[in-house]
Amino acid sequence: RELTVDLGDRSYPIYIGSGVLEDIAAYFDRHKLSKISPLLVVTDSSVAAHHLSPVMERLQRGGYPAVSYVVPAGEASKSLAQLEGIVTAALEAGLDRKSAIIALGGGVVGDLAGFAAASFMRGIRFVQIPTTILAHDSSVGGKVGVNHPMAKNIIGAFHQPELVLYDTSTLLTLPIREVRAGLSEMIKHGLIWDEAFVAWIDEHAGELLSLDEKALEYGLYEGCKVKAIVVSQDEHENGLRAILNLGHTLGHALEAVAGYGELLHGEAISIGMVGAAKLAEDFGYASHIYTETKRIFEKFGLPVTIPSQLNTDRIIDAMMHDKKFKEGAMVYIVPTAIGKVEIRKDVTVEQIRKIIAHLKEDI
Ligand code: NAD
Ligand code: ZN
Repeated sequence: RELTVDLGDRSYPIYIGSGVLEDIAAYFDRHKLSKISPLLVVTDSSVAAHHLSPVMERLQRGGYPAVSYVVPAGEASKSLAQLEGIVTAALEAGLDRKSAIIALGGGVVGDLAGFAAASFMRGIRFVQIPTTILAHDSSVGGKVGVNHPMAKNIIGAFHQPELVLYDTSTLLTLPIREVRAGLSEMIKHGLIWDEAFVAWIDEHAGELLSLDEKALEYGLYEGCKVKAIVVSQDEHENGLRAILNLGHTLGHALEAVAGYGELLHGEAISIGMVGAAKLAEDFGYASHIYTETKRIFEKFGLPVTIPSQLNTDRIIDAMMHDKKFKEGAMVYIVPTAIGKVEIRKDVTVEQIRKIIAHLKEDI
């Protein structure tokens, strides 16, 4: 399957399917990547163990001078230190303005390598090869960057890839917890935009969780499509793009309070989306939004309650630090039906406190 992210002269295609990477050299030929200027493939240690050598071999066989750079797996690699490491590798390999950086991995590698591509020589070409389900989200939209010890994603840029190669067969080596967490973002894309897609995800839960490649191909295609539509209408987050934050205000706070790595991002936003659905009830929308949302996340084995040891005041503090807070009211994405959301600017701290209490008691 093929999909275009429509951004005027920065539009780019996403190729999704089983075995797409077998033809990596042909895709690079089609997109006229340089065979003279070296390519730098950035990946992490876990992805490298499963998927790096076939990619390097196919590139070399196709006539591409490619070198690789491997960072340790994990969020800690989204750092300025690793950015410097990539630049060192790029200089040693002799990358120039016509070179490209290739991100082979999940969102961590995509954000890090993408930021390296955005900043090396003020910007060189960039290709995304996502290897997690979650990365269907991070590989569309062009947000790239690294973390600072004091704040996540605080150093970054917008840099669109030339193309995205999404080979569903790379997903077969994912740990099940990462599978569930990635599917959480896929469900989000349904919940904000497309009721029929939510129904499809619900019906195909078994296939998705057991990594049936045909189901993955369709789900990732639809998920990328929603993200692409939203991003192409609002590339720099002036309005509509905010709906992609469904479940994220609470989710980010839970990740921070639990300690990064304790709750995976997809798990934290699962709880966050159930919370947003509960808030919808508070605003007078039908209560089936809440029961349905909760049922779907439970079906996927994702958490729907807040672990009781997480302190409510600390969660609220973390949400206040989020820039979405103004004069006692918070910008919050609230579902108004399955497949529809609105951007509310009037959510109060008292309402949030009530939702958190509810999510802790699970009533
Ligand atoms: P990740 O890249 O850390 O991958 C999760 C884990 O799975 C890692 O340990 C990784 O080594 C391993 N892994 C990856 N692919 C594998 C495979 N095929 N087989 C076996 N193991 C594999 O995390 P993620 O969940 O993909 O992404 C999370 C990151 O994405 C966060 O840093 C987040 O901020 C970022 N993100 C960015 C955007 C954006 O718009 N740029 C959007 C959402 C998330
Ligand atoms: Zn997210």
